[in-house]
Amino acid sequence: MKQDDLIQFKKQLEEEKRFLEKDLLKFADKDKKVKGDYDTRFPQIGDRSASPDEDAQEVTIYSNLLAIEHTLETRLQEINEALEKINKHSEDFGLCEICKKPIELLRLKTNPASKTCINCATKTSVKPAS
Ligand SMILES: [Zn+2]
Repeated sequence: MKQDDLIQFKKQLEEEKRFLEKDLLKFADKDKKVKGDYDTRFPQIGDRSASPDEDAQEVTIYSNLLAIEHTLETRLQEINEALEKINKHSEDFGLCEICKKPIELLRLKTNPASKTCINCATKTSVKPAS
């Protein structure tokens, strides 16, 4: 891969990482013990002597936030892995993890954290039921 492309992808990944972390911190706290893990804060509606209605509302909000947290966290992990690859094994970045061939540049531009080429991605996602 060309050095210019590599720098561009790194920039793109770092930018997305910043956005993801900012989004996560809006409703979650960074877990100090587990790297890359976030804990969703329990929402507080109204005052302490909350009505059962408010309690139920809080639980609903909380479970929605947990789902969002999971999505953002998973994406953040992919980004961190891709960044680590660029930093430590830049020669491997952009190579399909299954067939070891270069991943299509357009695919990487859409998602620089892609781990497989289009060919392998299609093969693994439409596995016939055995
Ligand atoms: Zn492949």
